[in-house]
Amino acid sequence: MDDSIPISALQHYVFCPRQCAYIHIERVWQDNYLTALGNQLHQRVHSHEAETRVNLRTERSVQVQSQSLGIHGQLDLLEIRDDPLCLTPVEYKRGKPKVSDCDRVQLCAQVLCLEDMRDVSIKRAALWYWQVRKREWIAIDQALRRQTQSIISATRALLAAGELPAAGYSSACKACSLFDLCMPKQNDHSQDYVKQLFCE
Ligand code: SF4
Repeated sequence: MDDSIPISALQHYVFCPRQCAYIHIERVWQDNYLTALGNQLHQRVHSHEAETRVNLRTERSVQVQSQSLGIHGQLDLLEIRDDPLCLTPVEYKRGKPKVSDCDRVQLCAQVLCLEDMRDVSIKRAALWYWQVRKREWIAIDQALRRQTQSIISATRALLAAGELPAAGYSSACKACSLFDLCMPKQNDHSQDYVKQLFCE
């Protein structure tokens, strides 16, 4: 599919649609302290070779795509157990478990791709968080699958529209590397709109 969208765009969309548009429409990116730490972690994860232990194989930096959903990306680690065959994707994250669904949606999108490519069914996957140094198991249930599919549609619509959505200041802005570029407080006109509504 020519208009396949990167799975990272889904994660950015859940974090903030405006951030997603900056990165995937305007092609703007700025690292901050948090993203630089994340890059370091991923370089370390991806520098390890594939390995085989008793009844467990691992693949790293696995390219995935789904023709039917029109998405593609890369997952950090795939654990493969035989007899019965069981695939477990593991995505590494710098911080700790988040309130936002952005990591879970990213992981689910990777699972949907793997299911398409390898003709398997995956019931759970894992997020590994550096700050707490442990795995969080994520059930790939119907609710998360539906949510991920609706994020894919919303992200596709945003990218097709090709426009930067209006800024809306939120708690996410504090961790956003595009804060200085976006200036969400200065550009957030939602309060003006509310004032205007009540004045009229
Ligand atoms: S600063 Fe806030 S509104 Fe602007 S792109 Fe980042 S998260 Fe979105």
